[in-house]
Amino acid sequence: MPTGKTRSRPKPYVMPQFCKACGRCIDACPKGCITLGTEIEPSTGFTPIVLDLEACSGCGLCFSACPEPFGLAPVPNEFETEMFDPAKLFGPKETTAHQEPVAIPDERVALPHLEPLVLKGNHAASIGAILAGCRHFFGYPITPSTEGAELMAKLLPEIDGVFVQAVSEVATINMMYGCGGAGMRCMTFTSSPGFSLMVEGLSYMIGAEVPGVVVDVMRGGPGLGNIAPEQADIKLLCRGLGHGNTHAPVLAPSTPQEMLEMAMLAFDLAFKYRHPVVIAGDGYLGQMTGRVTLPEYMVKPGLPEWAVWGDEMHRGNLISSIFLSEPDLEAHNIHLNEKYDRMQAEEQRADLFQCDDAEWLIVACNTPARMAKGAVQQLREQGIKAGLFRPITLWPFPIDALVSVIDHVEGLLVVEGSNGQLEDELRLALSHANLTDARIENVRHFGGILPSLQEIVDKLTSLLEVAA
Ligand code: SF4
Ligand code: SF4
Repeated sequence: MPTGKTRSRPKPYVMPQFCKACGRCIDACPKGCITLGTEIEPSTGFTPIVLDLEACSGCGLCFSACPEPFGLAPVPNEFETEMFDPAKLFGPKETTAHQEPVAIPDERVALPHLEPLVLKGNHAASIGAILAGCRHFFGYPITPSTEGAELMAKLLPEIDGVFVQAVSEVATINMMYGCGGAGMRCMTFTSSPGFSLMVEGLSYMIGAEVPGVVVDVMRGGPGLGNIAPEQADIKLLCRGLGHGNTHAPVLAPSTPQEMLEMAMLAFDLAFKYRHPVVIAGDGYLGQMTGRVTLPEYMVKPGLPEWAVWGDEMHRGNLISSIFLSEPDLEAHNIHLNEKYDRMQAEEQRADLFQCDDAEWLIVACNTPARMAKGAVQQLREQGIKAGLFRPITLWPFPIDALVSVIDHVEGLLVVEGSNGQLEDELRLALSHANLTDARIENVRHFGGILPSLQEIVDKLTSLLEVAA
């Protein structure tokens, strides 16, 4: 039955900071209610429209014409006002808590001395993560990384942890985003094609400053490639962690022992910088067994003050990578750049073997560094002054350590299981250090083949024979 009441149609409402002054609404309005303003909006530099709604019929044509999600909209009711106000949507949340969130610090708990274990590289990284306080694992199985997830699936339920086999790598990294945002220590294992699927989520984690640890056990590519070892994700890890201004520390272990130690280090760095950290292994390293000495402590994690944790004290916290105002996003990127600068100043790591008097430096990481170390020993027995420069951080590249020994070096021999991706990182770092005239040679394989010790020895001896 008719009530006699008429429903008024909503009239428009403009949020000046989102109007791009495109004029589409002006053209769309049949009543001439909209004109271009003359006042410059300080946050955008545009001149937003002005509304004179006396003749407005509420036809809604201007809403449809406006391409901006927050530019022009129907006059909101009270609930919608909140939904439309970006300050309320994306700004700090109101809280009734009387106390500012306070960080609960981590604790180190001493471990009894245990005999060394013989572990696969993947298993060693899992144990390192658990000793670092990681109790949340999200992942999707992929060879040659799966043993890491498998061990976490066995161990975490025994220690009140959470193991979730996600439906995909995309789901995995977004679960990590949520878990890391709550201030919890979480990790995943993956391998090259799986890592590629995670990069969008990593960009979100970097933008929102969310910690988490990803172990990428690199395999042959491109595409599905094969399940043999390669180092062909180095460019992706160092230069391509998703869209936007993205970098993250990339650690390159060479032994199962280092898989454990670097898993612990990765969590330290992830929470120190509030940032994801990647451990770059290779297929051999994930599968090889080695003697692993356990550390003298384990970590009982605290809770950072920024965590989006479900209690009153933390309810004002917000994690987001969206900054709709351009100046705010630029300021956020400047903040990220400062963080990257700090990482470059404080986190470069390298292992130098017989570099002090070396005339040729072999540059290698991961499993190829083991062949390279053997090659250095063999070359030294032949009277050739070779040394091994092993980057432990691929990003930031440890250029300071290289600069400290490069004066007496005739050349650098880059040994890698990729088509020059480590060499590219080396060349970029040298060029930033204004060392562009260094002689660089290489031994490369890819497709799942790694350079052998003898190939390295033969390459360097042939270079010296040509020079003689
Ligand atoms: S609702 Fe219709 S009449 Fe009113 S300003 Fe928009 S286009 Fe013009
Ligand atoms: S259509 Fe939207 S963005 Fe364009 S002038 Fe009108 S309100 Fe501004």
